[in-house]
Amino acid sequence: MKTLGLVVPCYNEQEVLELFYDETMKVVSSLSDNYSCELVFVDDGSSDRTCEIMKGLALKDPAVKYISFSRNFGKEAAMLAGMSYAVKFDYIGIMDADLQHSPSLIPEMLSFVDSGEYDVAAARREDRAGEDKLKSKLSESFYKVINKVSEIEISDSAQDFRIMSKKVVEAVLSLPENIRFSKGIFSWIGFKVKWIPHENRERAAGQTKWSIRKLFKYAIDGILGYTNSPLRLGFICGGAFAFISLFALIYGIVRNSVSAEYISSVPYIMAAMFFIGAVILVLIGILGEYLGRIYTESKQRPKYIISETNTRQNII
Ligand code: UDP
Ligand code: MG
Repeated sequence: MKTLGLVVPCYNEQEVLELFYDETMKVVSSLSDNYSCELVFVDDGSSDRTCEIMKGLALKDPAVKYISFSRNFGKEAAMLAGMSYAVKFDYIGIMDADLQHSPSLIPEMLSFVDSGEYDVAAARREDRAGEDKLKSKLSESFYKVINKVSEIEISDSAQDFRIMSKKVVEAVLSLPENIRFSKGIFSWIGFKVKWIPHENRERAAGQTKWSIRKLFKYAIDGILGYTNSPLRLGFICGGAFAFISLFALIYGIVRNSVSAEYISSVPYIMAAMFFIGAVILVLIGILGEYLGRIYTESKQRPKYIISETNTRQNII
């Protein structure tokens, strides 16, 4: 019998966790003739009853595993911890706890990966119906930018709902970076992906954990993690300014030698100084962002710390 591990990152999901368990188990038990399945809940430092609920479910069902972090390390870390444990299974799935990812899609996804034709089956949203308008617009612009400037192609509509074969998860785990951007990692590692259309669904209960600020940080991590092109801006700006200043110099000399009256250039010089000063500061800021990331990576801290688990998993 083949094995399946479903990783579920959870942060303050007390309202929805039991509902998620019931719905997912209904689907999973329909597969029990061919697959034995474990649910791997990762409590990302929740401050509500999420961890207690997980423990309760684990007590009544041995197929439930839980890993609880010592604080909130973020969804990326939660997915990583879940995958590090679940890599022992033949197939590994990742899905959100809020039932926005329909468990009913699991059998279809699994059949694509199990057929051997694909290494990954991933859900792709068909539209952005029901989503916050501002967030959708910002998100669209982010994907346009990242696809233009980086070496990888990330689908605008890809969701964090996927089932992968063991070798794909091994590849994901082989990337050692601390600042993780899974959408980039999944694209970077390659493999054959079957995209499955998935209708956008409302959260079953509770609230989204992603504020605009958090999403913005996530977007910057994504862009800086997958391209060095912002660092090249210095060359482009330097070249452009050299050209403009040469042109301005020639223009000033010619104008003052042709015109009879003296025309002051001070306002232009001031404007040019402020402009160039601003550009230099922006470029230093970009350098600082990369430097900060190098510093974070060089510390080699663990990506998460586990406070409780019934998996006896090591920290990586
Ligand atoms: N999540 C997490 N850690 C965080 C934020 C979110 O583990 O710091 C989990 C959350 O519990 C959920 C999934 O990631 O299972 C997606 O989060 P959410 O539904 O809030 O995001 P949205 O669907 O609104 O993008
Ligand atoms: Mg959600």
